[in-house]
Amino acid sequence: MSQAPYPPAGPGYAYGPGQPYQPANVPSSSAPPADMFSQYTGYENTRFGSSFVPPPPPYVPPPTAQIPEQHFQDSPEITNDQARDAMLQFVSEHCCYGKAPAQEMVIKDIVPSSAYHYSLTSFCESRTTEWKFEPYEGQPIDSPLNGPAPMPWNLPVQPPEMFADHETEIEVPHTANIKPCHDCKAVGCKQCYECHGQGSTRCTRCNGTGCVQEMDQNVQCTVCFGGGFKRCDVCNGDGRVKCPTCLGNAQLKTFIEMTVKWENNVSNHVVGQISHQIPDELVVGSQGTELFSQELPRVWPITDFFEPQVNIGSKKLVDEHSQKWPSKRILLQRHVLRAVPVSEVDYQWKETSSSFWVFGLDQKVYAPDYPQQWCCGCSIL
Ligand SMILES: [Zn+2]
Ligand SMILES: [Zn+2]
Ligand SMILES: [Zn+2]
Repeated sequence: MSQAPYPPAGPGYAYGPGQPYQPANVPSSSAPPADMFSQYTGYENTRFGSSFVPPPPPYVPPPTAQIPEQHFQDSPEITNDQARDAMLQFVSEHCCYGKAPAQEMVIKDIVPSSAYHYSLTSFCESRTTEWKFEPYEGQPIDSPLNGPAPMPWNLPVQPPEMFADHETEIEVPHTANIKPCHDCKAVGCKQCYECHGQGSTRCTRCNGTGCVQEMDQNVQCTVCFGGGFKRCDVCNGDGRVKCPTCLGNAQLKTFIEMTVKWENNVSNHVVGQISHQIPDELVVGSQGTELFSQELPRVWPITDFFEPQVNIGSKKLVDEHSQKWPSKRILLQRHVLRAVPVSEVDYQWKETSSSFWVFGLDQKVYAPDYPQQWCCGCSIL
């Protein structure tokens, strides 16, 4: 068997820092033909590249489960003084806003209300499988002789943490086999790609002529000593190199790998009397008071909140999530209802009559019509 290193190193093959060694003619590991992989019940879709396993069985709620009670906290409101202070703070944070309107404006009316932010998070698991192979170097082989492969969704795999995105790979039990390497016909080495098995290559100094021009004279080449050929650097003259697929082991381990992925899928629903004046994403990102929160394998929609649009939105999202991911399994759901205080402030400044909104427990301001916005370099809410 060839002792040549793979990938080769040596004269002409050095690779410097940050420059991966990648000559075009070096062959890389090659995937075995599909018929080298055995078929297993439950894994019929498996191939090279990940493919989803058949969808998980539908969730059946435990028969004794009662709909848990739903209690709601009260919503906070904003006062007149808080609204004006918020506006002054807002102006001071925007360097190019004139302070005059904020200081001189006459507040005509403040209409306090609440926006309601309902969010539903489904913590989902998905499983994909894929054919894998690696050189067989004597590692353990859990073959079908040990029993049938467990069905994809019967493999016990626990997420390290609930509601945290994570991914892990495992070898599916009882799917491993030892196969002769297809790439080298189970020999362990292949013809050298550099010298095509000759063991020598044309001398690059004299270009194979055996002599070079020096001081207007033809002299014998000192690299090949006139022969025109030199020993191949890649195989050290052997004519063969280690097979890149089995790394010289002549055998491969084939198996099915399963990738288990956990991820949060979040949907938001925003309602409120005047919330349509403020972009929904501002309400979603603002500080509010949690009125209700629940975690269950499957949540029941909110039904008894006094604002009917919250109940409608909750039912819509819960229904949507129940059938949105046919190839995933929902492990746990969490829904949260938050109240975000929103006050509409109507004001007069000189001839201008307009409104702004103070929202969130941290009293952010949304003022798209503020009278003195002198530059457009500021990012305003
Ligand atoms: Zn091989
Ligand atoms: Zn030469
Ligand atoms: Zn060679």
